[in-house]
Order: sequence, then C-alpha cells, then structure tokens
Amino acid sequence: MTEALQRRLAERHQQSRYRKRRVLETAQGPRVRVDGRDFLLFCSNDYLGLANHPQLIAAMQLACSEYGVGGGASHLVCGHSALHHRLEERLAEIAGRDRALLFSTGYMANLGVVTALVGKGDHILEDRLNHASLLDAGLLSGAKFQRFRHNDLADLERRLQKLPAEGLRLIVVDAVFSMDGDMAPLSDLAALAQKYNACLMADDAHGFGVFGKTGAGSSELFGLNQEQLPILMGTLGKGIGSYGAFIAGSELLIESLIQFARPYIYTTAMPPAVAAASLASLELLATESWRRDHLQHLITRFKSGAAKMALPLMASDTAIQPLLVGEESLAMAISANLEAEGILVSAIRPPTVAVGQSRLRITITAAHTDADVDALLGALHRVVPAGLRVATL
Ligand SMILES: *Cc1c(COP(=O)(O)O)cnc(C)c1O
Repeated sequence: MTEALQRRLAERHQQSRYRKRRVLETAQGPRVRVDGRDFLLFCSNDYLGLANHPQLIAAMQLACSEYGVGGGASHLVCGHSALHHRLEERLAEIAGRDRALLFSTGYMANLGVVTALVGKGDHILEDRLNHASLLDAGLLSGAKFQRFRHNDLADLERRLQKLPAEGLRLIVVDAVFSMDGDMAPLSDLAALAQKYNACLMADDAHGFGVFGKTGAGSSELFGLNQEQLPILMGTLGKGIGSYGAFIAGSELLIESLIQFARPYIYTTAMPPAVAAASLASLELLATESWRRDHLQHLITRFKSGAAKMALPLMASDTAIQPLLVGEESLAMAISANLEAEGILVSAIRPPTVAVGQSRLRITITAAHTDADVDALLGALHRVVPAGLRVATL
C-alpha cells in the first residue's frame, strides 16, 4: 500500500494535478486572509454573499441555545426536529412542489435519489458533464448507465429511441454545469422526457436562490412545474449560504425517498441550528432580492470587460465564469500569478475536467463590488498571456 500510494502521488505531482488546500483565517466573503495576507476571493460558491450574513448568524445562535448542537440521530430514528420540518415545508413552498426532503449534503441527495429510484434492469441517461456525485450515483445504482453528449438533445433522443421497452427511464442533468457555468436546456429536456416516457431530474446546486423572480432557481426561470420536472434537487451550501440539500417533488416521490434512500436513512440529521440558518436565508431571498440583481449586474460587467481584453471566457451567463486555459501547468501558473496580485481563483484540472480543458474557475458573488470586479479584470489583463487571447467577433 505504501509504495502504491507514493507512486500515485508522485504521478499526480508530475502531471501538475496535485491538489493542496488553502487555510482560510477568516469567514467566507469577498475578502479573506490566508497566511496573514489579505486576498480578494473569486472562487466561492456563496453566490448571494449570505454565508456570513448577520441574520443567518443570529438565527443559528438562537437555535443553538434552544436546540443545542448535535442532530442526535438520523431523521427516521429520533433526529427530525421542528426546525428540519419547518425548513422542508418552506422549501416545498418556494420550489412550488408538494413536498421537500432534507439531505445532509448535495452529494448524498444525488446518491440517495438516484439509487432509490432506479436499479438493475432500469436505464439512466446523464449529461457527460454532470457533477461527480450524479455520475457516481448512476454507477452505484446498478441501472444501465449512459452519458450523452453535453447539452446535445439529438444525441439524447437517439439514445432514448434505442432503449428497450422494459425498465424505468431516468434522465439526469445539472441545471447549471458546475465547471462550465452554462445551463441545461431544461424546457426541451422536459418535452423529450415526456415524449419518451422518462422521468427528468435536475440538480440545481448553482441555480437555487440565484435564478427566478423569487429565487426559486432554474425551475422558476424556465417555468417548469412538478409534472414537467418531477425531481428537483437543490443545495443550501452555495447560494443559500448555509449547508445541506433537498429533493423537492411529489408526495409519492418524497415518501419513496424516506423509505428507500439509503444516504437519507443511514446518516445523522444535520444540526437543527443549520436548518435554522437556512430558514433565515430563505427569508432573505424575498426581502433582499437586490442580491440577485446586483449579481447579474456584476456578471454583465465582468463579461463585457473580459470581452474587451479578448480573454478566453467560456459561454456562460451565470456566476460561474471560467477562463479556458488548456494545459494544467499554465492554469496553475496563471492562478499563482493572480495570487501574487492578491486575487484567489482556483485552477481546475483533470480529472475534474477533461484533459486539455484546464481552466480558471472564476465565480462572482453579490458581495463583490464593481471595484472588486474591476480589480479582477485589471489583474487578468496583467497575467493572462497574449497567446491565450482570442479573436473577438
Ligand atoms: C456542489 C454540488 C453538489 C454537491 O453539493 P454539496 O452540498 O456540496 O454536497 C452537487 N451537484 C452539483 C452540481 C454541485 O455543484
């Protein structure tokens, strides 16, 4: 074992794929301290800038004094508190679904729902660029697992046409692709699913809280109801600024998950105070809608500034604005040069993305200012080599 691990780690180093963790000495926010140095942060998924919001902090503190810290047991044993229950009711209401079920993390929600619904003899079709948790879920389920070309409806339809009549059919996509920032064509996918008698699931980890008039996310943006999009997954650790995840859908779906979703059944409930923080955040979705507007404004500002410099931006209108670099080592070098300029952006490399597709995954949040975005643009102007600039149309 020792030798095998040493060999694998050495190989990682050689490929410029070795990963290291930074130790933050401050709360999440647009400004953080690492090793005593202050940085502007452009790699957090705290899209609405709520992770350090005074109302979330106060709600969590109050709930701790009433409910303590630990969840104590799983939801089915005796760990399901009034706060968890109220959060599920609020999530269902916001999502416009019959019911919602809380999971401790998005990874577990995805594993739980897919493995509870399909198995041997069934069929699961996933976009190639789906989040790792969905790909893992598809493999673990034991269903016949296919990956279709990214956002390619014709490829998906060809695959649906070839499926045998037997077995359930589940189509699963990221609503917003986490490393590319582009969106799935959810309305067309819903129509295709209906045409081929398949069930559609969307993972809205990067859309919930951020899109839609009320912040209900991608399903609100596309106007998809429970029939059109029967399985809606959202997370609470990104735009919502807290922790955890949920599945929203029909009464039948949620009851089935309570009975059969192993990552729901066999894990301790999240601390009730974490649920209280999420509840406080959901209130802010309504009262501080300016956060969504400001985020959109900053995205537009960044994109137009980057276009003027011919930076190799990927096709994204969301808060995820990746710069496509290519080689791992070059992505690492640009990230290091940005760090020297006082700006933190992570380089994303294989195996998270395909070989030759290494990138800087820039994320913008509502807590940033115009001046922060301009500072990022200025630094990119200095550190992105001329060879990476693209011809603008
Ligand atoms: C982050 C993410 C998850 C996992 O959610 P966690 O709550 O962080 O476990 C699932 N799907 C997508 C698309 C994500 O980006």
